[in-house]
Formats: sequence, structure tokens, C-alpha cells
Amino acid sequence: MNLTAANHRIPLSDGNSIPIIGLGTYSEPKLTPKGMCLTSVKIAIDVGYRHIDGAYIYKSEHEVGQAIREKIAEGKVKREDIFYCGKLWATNHEPERVRPCLEKTLEVLQLDYVDLYIIEIPMAFKPGDEFYPRDENGKWLYHKTNLCATWEVECHPYFIQTKLLKFCQKHDIVIVAYSPLGTSRNPAWVNVSLPPLLKDELLNSLGKKYKKTAAQVALRFNIQRGLVVIPKSFNPERIKENFQIFDFSLTEEEMKSIEALDKNARLVELLMWRDHPEYPFNEEY
Ligand code: NDP
Repeated sequence: MNLTAANHRIPLSDGNSIPIIGLGTYSEPKLTPKGMCLTSVKIAIDVGYRHIDGAYIYKSEHEVGQAIREKIAEGKVKREDIFYCGKLWATNHEPERVRPCLEKTLEVLQLDYVDLYIIEIPMAFKPGDEFYPRDENGKWLYHKTNLCATWEVECHPYFIQTKLLKFCQKHDIVIVAYSPLGTSRNPAWVNVSLPPLLKDELLNSLGKKYKKTAAQVALRFNIQRGLVVIPKSFNPERIKENFQIFDFSLTEEEMKSIEALDKNARLVELLMWRDHPEYPFNEEY
């Protein structure tokens, strides 16, 4: 498949398609100035991104919606050009809470529909308006629900997920790789004992060869394997940089050498919830 900056959608088995690169929009709300997400999404759309990954819990969904609406009003894009993924938070897994949450997301976005709505994490918390419910002793309040599935998977050169990828490809399931650059390394939820991915020697030396950065090599690696990537950046230069991955390709040998970097090590471990009965990361996949 010849993917280009102008045409980089890949087919889904239901007849729809998904752009292979999206802009991630999670940024610690307390540390992110108001309007930064709005500006970043608008820049991303101007640069050529057509897929935006957001969530109600990121507290920036209203800015994402505004950016998309402004770009539609300008005539830059039509609604159907954009692929927006929203997410159902863990306190809302009860079936009767799903629709109202989706409706809330649509109200916040001020859009008529989302293109994808996923279960954000496969562990349920006590239903209610408190995003991170705890009891009076600070203990997390978990909840039991009938979990369906979650399709999002951390994936980058230190965690290449070959077995899962093969399984999904066999069953025509497209994987969306979150944290494709190795996360923002927030120690509250990231395993920071792993070295920073973008400092990796091989990724940097391949970058030199192609006049690209380690980030671009890491993203290209994933899209060449057929994975969708959703790198987050709120920096105009890096938003552009992360999109410039359609004008070079890695050789088979280089792909193998990047695969050999695999440490089978997950960055987003969410260890604070490891005693949840549905904690997903002890499973084989
Ligand atoms: P990423 O791997 O996308 O890394 C983001 C970090 O890398 C930021 O600190 C960003 O800083 C920096 N960065 C971006 N581009 C470059 C570059 N070219 N060179 C150097 N540094 C760069 O991490 P995320 O964990 O944010 O994952 C991406 C998205 O995936 C999230 O934003 C979110 O939308 C989604 N996600 C979903 C999860 C889920 O459970 N469902 C879990 C985790 C993520 P700066 O902004 O300053 O450029």
C-alpha cells in the first residue's frame, strides 16, 4: 500500500477506513495552558493530520471540537475528512451509562458523531461522577462489569507486540499504537526505569541516514508494520515533524534491526491499579 501525506487511510473490515497517523491529545491538564490543545489540533489539520485521538477525561475535548469546527468553517476540511476517536472512562462501564457518556462527548465537541468510541481502559471503577474514586482510606474503589474488549495497544520499538500484531492481522483487526514515541515519561503512570526511547542509538543513527529524527524513525517503523500511530505533540514544529513520515521508508534489514530493540517492556504499566481483578497486563497478549 502506497501511503502518502495526502492519502494515508487504511481499510477497516467494516468498510470504513482510518488515517494511519493521528494526533494524540493527552496532556496533564494542570500543566497545560488553556487553548494549547485548540491551537495544536488546528496546526495538525493544516499540516495534513486527519485523525485526532482524544477523550472526555483529557479535559481538552472541547478544544478539539472547537478546532475541528473552526477548520470545517474555514473550508479547510469537511467533517467526513476527519476521524475522531473518543473514549469511555472506567467509571462508566455499566451499559446504561455508555450512551449518556457518548452524548456528553458529542455535546462537549459540538459535533454530530465520533468515528470511533472505545473503552479507555479495560478495568472498571465505581460508577459515578468521580473519575478516580477512592474510599476514606485512599483505597481505589473498583467495580465489576461485563467487559467486551479494548483495541488500543501500546506499541513502539521497545515493545513491539509481535504476537498480538500477528493475531490481529490474521483476524483483520487494525491496531492503534498509543505512546508510539515512548510517552511523556510522567512517573505517576509510566515505568521510567526504561531508557528514553528517542535517545536510542539505532533510531538516531537511522535518522541520520535518512535525514530524519529518532521520532520519525519510530513512527515510520510502526506504520510500515501496518499499525496506526497517534503521537502526541502540542509543539508546532514537532506536530509537523511527526507527520513527515511518508517520504522515506526503512529497508527490511533496518526493520529487523529495530525489531531487535524489543525489550518486551511496557511503559504505561498503570501499576497503581495492579490489584484490580481485571488488571489487563498480566495476560499473555
Ligand atoms: P507519545 O509517545 O506520543 O509521546 C508524547 C511525548 O513526546 C510528549 O512529551 C511530546 O512533547 C513528545 N514529543 C512529541 N513529538 C516529539 C518529537 N518529534 N521529538 C521529541 N519529542 C516529541 O505519548 P502519549 O503517551 O501521549 O501517547 C500518545 C497518545 O495516545 C496520547 O496523547 C493519547 O491521545 C493516547 N493514549 C491513550 C491511552 C489509553 O489508555 N487509551 C494511554 C496513553 C496514550 P511535546 O508535546 O512537547 O512535543
